[in-house]
This record gives sequence, structure tokens and C-alpha cells, in this order.
Amino acid sequence: MSGAVRVGRVFGIDLKVHFSWVFIFVLVSWTLATSYLPDGYPGWSDRQYWAIGIVGSLLLFTCVLIHELSHSLEAIRRGHQVESITLFFLGGVSQMGEEAETAGDEFWVSVVGPLTSLGLAVVFWLVYLIIRGGPSQVAALVWYLAYVNAAIGIFNLLPALPLDGGRVLRAVLWKLTGDEARATRAASRAGTALGFGLVTIGITLIFVTRNFAGVWLALIGWFIQSAATSIREQSATEQLLSGRLVRDAMRTDFPTVDPGTTIQRLLDERIVRDFERAYVVVLGDTFRGLITTTDVRDVAPDERERRWVSEVMIRAENVASLPPDAPLEDALELIVQRGIHQLVVLEGHRAVGLVTRGDVLRVIEVSRLLSGRRPDDPKGSPGDS
Ligand SMILES: [Zn+2]
Repeated sequence: MSGAVRVGRVFGIDLKVHFSWVFIFVLVSWTLATSYLPDGYPGWSDRQYWAIGIVGSLLLFTCVLIHELSHSLEAIRRGHQVESITLFFLGGVSQMGEEAETAGDEFWVSVVGPLTSLGLAVVFWLVYLIIRGGPSQVAALVWYLAYVNAAIGIFNLLPALPLDGGRVLRAVLWKLTGDEARATRAASRAGTALGFGLVTIGITLIFVTRNFAGVWLALIGWFIQSAATSIREQSATEQLLSGRLVRDAMRTDFPTVDPGTTIQRLLDERIVRDFERAYVVVLGDTFRGLITTTDVRDVAPDERERRWVSEVMIRAENVASLPPDAPLEDALELIVQRGIHQLVVLEGHRAVGLVTRGDVLRVIEVSRLLSGRRPDDPKGSPGDS
């Protein structure tokens, strides 16, 4: 997620906070300090409302973080990679290295989050029972945390993607039918339905009861339906690419250049004539790097005569690459994740092909044509092209 800053690291996982989290943090603190606490516990000073409000908000997001960590730790325990956890305005999200490979993994990695939240709710509730005779400020805080953790646990168990409950549903359907794509379609349709349902309830609340919570509900609903749609589209694309290999999409007549060429010469003798976007840098048979028109553009015109391709290129170890027998899905994932236009196909130290974003899209288009039906695409209808 761009716009996020790293704030720490636990169990080898980067913890990040997205700038949008600041708004929700302020909103939660403000709601606690100005309405929830004064309504439930009259008679405190303003300073006490704000202090408990801010502490409550901080502890709420600590609980969200614990929820996300439980997903991550279960994923790691099952041999998956987790890169980071990001807090943003709708809660938390974990960036996994790859999707769960089995229905069982998906089930346990997903269900552990809501169970953790429900567990926290029970713990806070027990603490509340013990301390409720004491200072009302502390009891209010503990009661609030029991209540929000229960709400987070129950809401996330709703059987609709992208919520945890939707992943649980997908895992169960996947296990029962053996068909991952079908399970994804069903669970994501539930997500679309839930999302639009929440938007409808939210808008009704805003207009009928003038309740501010309606805006929030509508926003969450909109986020859920759009995420459900993109999960469905991604799954359809994966299905179209399944069984295809990098070698099916790569071009083998890719342009190459020697590392000892000057930038000026590359520009005058190659780029202006063959209009290529990227050149694979090879020395003899060995892959050395990649140089793109963007890299060339970044060299000041009066320096192009003196600079070599070897100085300007992206060095081999930093170039995105895959072997020819890798699944084509991996190529798409790499291109999308790293926001790049092409990757080099390597056999040992030898470049054997180049795969561009366009090459992958071409394979998707042709596969779609051959499969005889369009994937779920709400933006297109069977008549258009
Ligand atoms: Zn979760």
C-alpha cells in the first residue's frame, strides 16, 4: 500500500501505518470523547473524556493489530511468507507473499483472526467483571474494548469476501467441490451482495434517522463490494492463464545491446530505428541487465556521449526475471506487484526471452476468446469489445 510508513517490526513482519489511519484514529477518539463516553458515563471532566477516548482508540487499534498478527503467525506457521501488516482507515490488512495453496491453510489462516478478536472480547469482559466496582473510567475502557472486539470478531465472520468469513466460506466450498475458482465466485458474490446491502442500509440511516454512522456503513459496504468484484476478476484472469507458461507468452526475438555501448549510440543507432521500449544487456552469452527508454531519458543529453549502458542499466540482480517454465500467472503477478512493464526470461545466466505486460494481456485476450465466455466483468457486457 503506498502512502504507508513503517513503524516497527515484530516476528520478522513489517508493521506499517497508512496515512488514512490518522483520520480514523482521530474519528474514533473524538466519537468516544464526545458522545460514547459522555452518554454512558456522565459526570467526568472533559479532560477525562478525551484521555480515556484517546487511550481507548489506541487500544482498539492495538487489538486490530493483534487480530492481523494472528493471521500472519498462522500463515507463517504453515510455511507461507508474510511481508507486512498495514493499519489503514478500515482496519488492518496483511500482505502475504502468496495466496494459500490449500483449502485447509486458507481456512485456518482466515478463521484465527475473528477467533482472536472474540477471545480478546472474552478476556476484556472477564476483566470487566473483576474491576467493575473500581474507578468508572477504567471499567468504561475495558467494557468498550470487550464490546468492540466482539463486534470486530462477529462482523469479520460474515461469510462474504473479502472478509475473513468469506475466506472461510471459500475454503469450505473449495474443500467440498475441489473447485477453487467456483468457490471464489460464490464467496465473492456474497461479498457483492453484503457490500450493496450495507450501502443501502447506510444511505437509509443517513436519510431516515440522520445518523452519522450511516456514512460509515455505506463506506464499508462500498469498499467490500469493490474488493469482492476485484477478487472475482482476478480469479477469472488466473483461470484464463492457468496451465500457460512464461514460454507461451515470451518473445524470443527481443532486442539486445552490449554493456560497452554509449547511451548516445544506443539512442541513435537502435532506439530511433526499432522503437523498442527495453533492451536486454548481454555480454556474449551472459545476461548483464536491462535498459529501458526511461533509463535513457534520465541521462542528461550532454552526458549521453560519455555514459555507458553498463552504468545506466538496471543490473541483472535487480531485474525481475523468471524461468521459461514458470506459470504465466507468476509473470502477471510480478509485473503488477512491481509496477514494471517487462521481465526477462532466464535460463541460468542466459536471457532467452522477454515478457511484457502487453504479451500477458494478449494471452488473456486470446484465452478468453478460446474459452468462449467472458469472465465475470461488471464493466462489460457480452456485446462490447
Ligand atoms: Zn482478519
